[in-house]
Parts: sequence; structure tokens; C-alpha cells
Amino acid sequence: MTPAQRRDKQVVKDSFTTAYEAAANELHSIEREKERNAHAKGFRPIVIWPDPVLSRVAEPIPPNLIEELNSSNWSQFRDLLNAMAFTMVSLNANGLAAPQIGVSLQIIALRFKKSGSEEFETIHVINPKITELNDAKQTTVEKCLSLPGIEVEKTRAAFARIEGIGSDGARIEVAGEGLIAVAIQHEMDHLNGITIADGCTSLKRSRLRSKLKKKKEAGLRYRLVEPDAQNAEVSK
Ligand SMILES: [Zn+2]
Repeated sequence: MTPAQRRDKQVVKDSFTTAYEAAANELHSIEREKERNAHAKGFRPIVIWPDPVLSRVAEPIPPNLIEELNSSNWSQFRDLLNAMAFTMVSLNANGLAAPQIGVSLQIIALRFKKSGSEEFETIHVINPKITELNDAKQTTVEKCLSLPGIEVEKTRAAFARIEGIGSDGARIEVAGEGLIAVAIQHEMDHLNGITIADGCTSLKRSRLRSKLKKKKEAGLRYRLVEPDAQNAEVSK
């Protein structure tokens, strides 16, 4: 490994460590057996808007590290991917971006029903790029784990396609319409520092801010899905 590669790797590792320490500290203050157990399995607390990490453009994983994704000596990266998947499934969500667990890196996780099946599959896309957006639009009511209890009507492309690197280090493409298109665009927004609050008027944003502040002060609780119900219908 060259000195430049070593430095890049250290930057990424430091980013994991800082975020994980913050997550562990935050969780420590939440005295709840279930959450501690979940954390041991990979659950990470969700960063709540307007935390600055949610308005930052996430860093790409340096290309010279992509080929190392599968190397056994980089288990921290594997841990991050697993934590994203476990957190998303535990919260019964169908998408999660790394900044939502405090890691400002370009990684998203998506969870869809396999075509022609009732089973769900989780896909990670690292350094995703949008390669196609349909001109046709759709309007849906969106929710976000980082803005619990908030619903915002959003108009987006009816079809979206992204490509990036999968968790196995190989190129991956994800495309779809309906909820899949919404989830893709919603998670891509997170990597660009955009949340569903950004489309709101400043009046609505200040109302959201005080509502979420009160929720945090009251001690935000996560409703975790039991493992046997993890394949239940997702609520967007
Ligand atoms: Zn979101």
C-alpha cells in the first residue's frame, strides 16, 4: 500500500471510529435493555434532523480502497455495512443512508421484496451515482427515520436508476419505479446533505425543528421490530 492509500484508509477509519464512539455514548444514556441488546447485534441510533451530519455532502470511499472491500483485514467496513442493514431492518425501513447513523460516507442500504417473491433482500450501494431519472413524476407522502413522526409530500421522478459498488466489491445497478424509485432518490438526497425538510417552507422547517427538539428532550425511543417479524410488510 502506498503512503497515499494508507492515509486515505486512515481518514475513512477515523470517520468510522468517531461516529461509533458518538453512537455508543448516545446509546449509553438510553437505559433500555432492548436497545443495548440490539446495539450489540449492530443497531445504531439514528441521527435526528437538524444534526449537521445530515446536511453535509458525504465523502466517497476512495477508489483505491474499493478493491479492499472484501479483504478480511478490514472488518470495520464490513461492520458498518452490517450495522446499516441491521438498523434498517430493525426499524422496518426500506432505505438508510450512512449519514443517518452518523457516518458521513457515500453508502446507502435499500430493502425491497425480491421480484416474484414475498422475501425481502437488502442491497448496499457504495459511491452510488444516479444514471437515469424518468421525466414522468409521481407524488407520494414520504417519511424519514431522521425526522420521526413527520410526513412530507414530495414529487419525484417516477423511475430511477443508480449504479455503484455492491457489498461484494463488484459494480451494481439498482433501478425501479414506485416506492423503489422514491427510496432510491430519498437516500441519494441524504448523501448530498438533503432531507425531506429541505423542500419545506422556512415556517414549516422551524415548526419541525421545535417538534423534533421536544421529542429528543423527552427521550426518543426506537420501536424495534422483533427478529421474527423482520420480513413483515414495510411501512415507507
Ligand atoms: Zn431519510
